Amino acid sequence: MFTEKKSVGEVCIVCNEVKNLGIHLYTSFICTECELEMLHTDTSNPNYKFFVQRLKKVNTPQIYS
Ligand SMILES: [Zn+2]
Repeated sequence: MFTEKKSVGEVCIVCNEVKNLGIHLYTSFICTECELEMLHTDTSNPNYKFFVQRLKKVNTPQIYS
C-alpha cells in the first residue's frame, strides 16, 4: 500500500505533464526532468530555443506594446 502523501502534482510548463518533482519559477512549474534536460541542452541545440520560448511565457505573461 502506498502511503498517502500530499503531493498533488503540478503541470510542467515545458512538457505539460503533471509531475510531483520540480522547481518553481515565479508562478510556473518546471519538472525535474525538464530542468535537467535544459541543463544538458547546449545553447546551439535547436531544442534550447524551445525551452527558452517556454520560459519566456513565464517571464512575460502579458505583452505591452
Ligand atoms: Zn516537464
